Amino acid sequence: MMDAANFLHSHRSHDVTHLLGRWRRLGRSLRLRPALLCRAADFDVICLESRGKTPGVYLSAGIHGDEPGATEGLFRWAARGGMAELLRRKIPFFLAPCLNPWGLANNRRLDANDVDLNRQFRGRAVSPVRELRARVRGHSYRLALTLHEDYDAQGLYLYEVRGSTPFWGELLSTAAAKIIPPDPRARIELRAAHGGVIRPGLTDAITRRFLRGGCPEALWLHFHGHAERVFTFETPSEFDLDRRAETHVALITESIRLAFPPTYDVLCRSLHRNREKIQN
Ligand SMILES: [Zn+2]
Repeated sequence: MMDAANFLHSHRSHDVTHLLGRWRRLGRSLRLRPALLCRAADFDVICLESRGKTPGVYLSAGIHGDEPGATEGLFRWAARGGMAELLRRKIPFFLAPCLNPWGLANNRRLDANDVDLNRQFRGRAVSPVRELRARVRGHSYRLALTLHEDYDAQGLYLYEVRGSTPFWGELLSTAAAKIIPPDPRARIELRAAHGGVIRPGLTDAITRRFLRGGCPEALWLHFHGHAERVFTFETPSEFDLDRRAETHVALITESIRLAFPPTYDVLCRSLHRNREKIQN
């Protein structure tokens, strides 16, 4: 980890060209060419993808431009071997490293047209949500992570969209607690929270009222059957950037460890063997 003080003096977390350059270089080093989802206000919106026969992982960051801990954290995780590990273990992935580049460059939540992209996942979607949805259509993932930050947060909190049990929210918040402890509030964004973990009721009045304002990425992933487990991570924007980025690294690492244990590789190998047998 870079010394935190040095990092703060040298960081370029809102420098989109720099960020996309780092992703392109990392992709090249792994023989993975980023795909262009669309252009948005003179910036490229890219994704990196590796397809396969088993359900893999969906990762996205930067749909809100004023949340640089998320975009930085996702890159650090990938650059420290996270993406290489997925490729080596043949875990398919869809990765959107910066969905609102104009917002990141301008430190704004909304896009250049004042649209909250994270409310555009239903109906006639705007770019790049439309292109992202087209790209993911027909795919399902074992795990989906959407990375965010929140100015009101007093620690880390996360949403675990109800899915498979046992739930993992507490394990994840514990895995990051040494870097940023969980938000201690008993209610966060109108919802009951315990140790920074929120498991929203998906049909209750709060969700219905919320959905009237548009559908967010996490609920679209769940309702459209794109992912078995969906998490939204929220790091506290007022904490230092280095720790926020490191918290995202810890959360992504632990989620992938839980979702793809060594038994996953055994399953993959036997799938490949069976396919070879059928082909022979
Ligand atoms: Zn956000």
